[in-house]
Amino acid sequence: MGRSSLSRRRFLSLGAGTLAAATAAHLALPGHDALAAHPTIDPATDGRVVRSVCEVCFWKCGIQGHVQGDRLLKIQGSPLHPLSNGKLCPRGAGGVGLAYDPDRLVKPLLRVGPRGKDEFRPVKWEVALGFVASKLDELRKKYGPETVAMFNHGAGASWFHHLFKAYGTANFGAPSFAQCRGPRDVAFELTFGSDPGSPELLDVSRSDCLVLLGSHIGENMHNTQVQDFAELVARGADIIVVDPRFSTAASKARTWMPIRPGTDTALLLAWIHVIIKEGRWQRDYVSAYTSGFDKLAAAVESYTPEWASAETGLDPESIRNTARRIAGAAPAVLVHPGRHTTWYGPGDTHRARAVAILNGILGSWGHRGGFFRPSGMKLAKFPTPPYPKTKPPADRVEGEAPFAFEPLAHGLRRATIDGKPYPVKGWFVYGTNLIQSLPQRQETLEAIDALDLLVVADLVPAEIAGYADVVLPEAAYLERYDDLLGISWHRSGVALRQPMIPPPGDAKPGWWIARELGHRLGLSAYFPWTDVEAYLKERCRLSNVDYEALKRDGVVLAPEKPTVIEDGLALTLATESGKVELYSERLEKAGFAPLPIFERPEGPPPGYFRLLYGRAPGFTFGRTANNRLLGELEHHDGVWLNRTVAADLGFSDGDKVRLVNQDGA
Ligand code: SF4
Repeated sequence: MGRSSLSRRRFLSLGAGTLAAATAAHLALPGHDALAAHPTIDPATDGRVVRSVCEVCFWKCGIQGHVQGDRLLKIQGSPLHPLSNGKLCPRGAGGVGLAYDPDRLVKPLLRVGPRGKDEFRPVKWEVALGFVASKLDELRKKYGPETVAMFNHGAGASWFHHLFKAYGTANFGAPSFAQCRGPRDVAFELTFGSDPGSPELLDVSRSDCLVLLGSHIGENMHNTQVQDFAELVARGADIIVVDPRFSTAASKARTWMPIRPGTDTALLLAWIHVIIKEGRWQRDYVSAYTSGFDKLAAAVESYTPEWASAETGLDPESIRNTARRIAGAAPAVLVHPGRHTTWYGPGDTHRARAVAILNGILGSWGHRGGFFRPSGMKLAKFPTPPYPKTKPPADRVEGEAPFAFEPLAHGLRRATIDGKPYPVKGWFVYGTNLIQSLPQRQETLEAIDALDLLVVADLVPAEIAGYADVVLPEAAYLERYDDLLGISWHRSGVALRQPMIPPPGDAKPGWWIARELGHRLGLSAYFPWTDVEAYLKERCRLSNVDYEALKRDGVVLAPEKPTVIEDGLALTLATESGKVELYSERLEKAGFAPLPIFERPEGPPPGYFRLLYGRAPGFTFGRTANNRLLGELEHHDGVWLNRTVAADLGFSDGDKVRLVNQDGA
C-alpha cells in the first residue's frame, strides 16, 4: 500500500479506542429511537433551548438546540435568525450526528512513527501545546515567522488567524478560494468593486427572472436561498436553467437549456449581443453607474446567437428569446453568480466577468429582485497591539494571479516544495482535509515531506491528520464559543455561537487552544482576556450590543436600512472609477483581456466523458463525510449518464460503475 492510500480506518480505530476509554458516557449516539421519543419537546417546560449558529456549511444559519442535561436531542432552525427563519437544511438538523460521532478526537495525539503511518500516542494538553509552541519558536528563530502557513476552513479559524498574525506570518490559505468561488469573486470585484457575498446577497424571492448557470438550488441546500427560490417558484416568476443536466432547479424552470459543457461564456456573450443589438439594456442605469459600455457593444458585435449556437449546441432562437425575457424583467432580474466557479482554468474568470457584465447592463446590482446591498453592522474589535509587519505571502511567483485577493492554498504548497520565495517549514491545518481538498495529492505529500512541523486541529481524524506531528482535538461548533459573527442580509446584525453541550473527553475550543499557544509563544499581549465570555462581552460593550439579549436570542439585529435603490439606497461602487467597470482597465493594464473572451475548453479524450458534479442536499464535502445520521440519507454516489449514451454502452438504471480518469485515478 502506497503513501497516498492512507489507511484511514486504522487511524480511525485509534481515535475510537481513545474515545471509548475517555468518554463513553457522553458519546452514546442517541439514535433514531431516542430522537423519535422526543418529537415535541416543549422548550418552555422540558429542557433548555440554546440559540447558536450552524457550522455545517458557510451559510451560518441560526439554530436552536434542544438540550436535556448534557444531551443534545435535536437541532432546529432559529425563528429569530434572518438566515434560517425557523428552518434548516438536512445538514443543519443532522449536526447531532457530528456531536455524537464515535470517531471524534478526544485527546491530543503525538506522532510516534513515520509520517503517514498513523502511529500516535495520546498525550496531555500540556505536552501537546509545549511541543507545538517549542517547534513554532524554533522555526521563528531559524527561518523567520513567515515560514509558517495556516490552511483553514470555517469560522472557528479566526482565533488561529489572530494567533498567527501576531506570530508574524501572512500565509493563510483556504482551498475554498482558488477551487470554489475565487474566479467569481475576482470577476465581481473587478466589475462592481465587491464580490457577491457569502452568503450571496441575492434578492431571489423578489426577482422576476432568475437565470441559473450550473447552479443547483435545491440540490445545494443554501438555506435562505432555497426558501427564497421556493417563493419565486410559487409566484410563477420566470426561471431559466442552463445546465447539461436536468437538475432539480431545471424541473421548476420555464426553460431548460441543456448546454454543451464548458461553453457558458459563448451563451453569455450572445445574450449580451442580443440585448445591446435590440436596445434592451437599462439605459438610465448604464449611463449613471457604468463605464465602458461602447467598448463592450463593439466587442460583442460578432457574438450572434448563430455563432453561439455552434459552440453551445443551443437553438439560436431559444438564445434570442431568453435574452428578451431576461431583459424584459430587468432590473428585477438575477443572472446568478454561482458559487463553485472553478471549472476550466483562466476562462473561469472570463465566464464570471460575463455574468457580472450582463447583470451590469441589466441594472440588477443594487435593485430590488437583483443584488441587494446591505450596510452590515459595525462591530468593534477587541483592543490588542497592532500585528507585526510581515513578509508578503509565499503563494505566488511574480505576476501570477495578480487579482486574487486571498493567498492560494496550492501556491503555499508549491512554496513549501521549492522553498521560494522563502522556506515554508511549518503547517497549521484547521478544519480542512488537505489530502482531499487540494488537487494533485502527490504534490501535497511531497510538500508534507519537506515540513519540519505539521499540526492538525480537527474534530474527527480526516486523512491529513494521519500525517500530522501533533493532532489537536477541537470542540465542535455545538460545544464552544466562537468570535462574534456579523450578519449581512436584508436586515443585518450579529449572531453568537455558543455551547449547547460540553465537548467530549479532552477536546477544547479553538479560542482556548489559540490563547494557550499565544501565552507559550510570548504573545500574551494579544490575548489579554481571561475567558472567552470576557472577550465577547467587551466586544459587545464596545459595539453597543446587548450581550445578554445576544446570549438569549442568539442574534441581535441592527435597525433596518435600505438595501435596494427603490427603498432609498444610495448605490456606491468601490471600483477605482466608482462605476460598474464593464470594460476593465485594470485587467488591460495587467496584460489580460479587458472584456470577456470565449475559448473552447479541451474536450475529453476519446472514450472518456466530461465529469460534471454538483451537490447532494445532505452533504458538505468533508464536513459531513463521517456523519452517520446524514450518511443514512444516501448510501451511494449516483452517476448520471446521457440516456442515449447509456443505452449504447448497455447501462441501465441502478448498475454499479467505476469511474477512471485520464490519469488512471
Ligand atoms: Fe447549516 Fe444548512 Fe444553514 Fe448550511 S444551509 S448553515 S448546513 S442549516
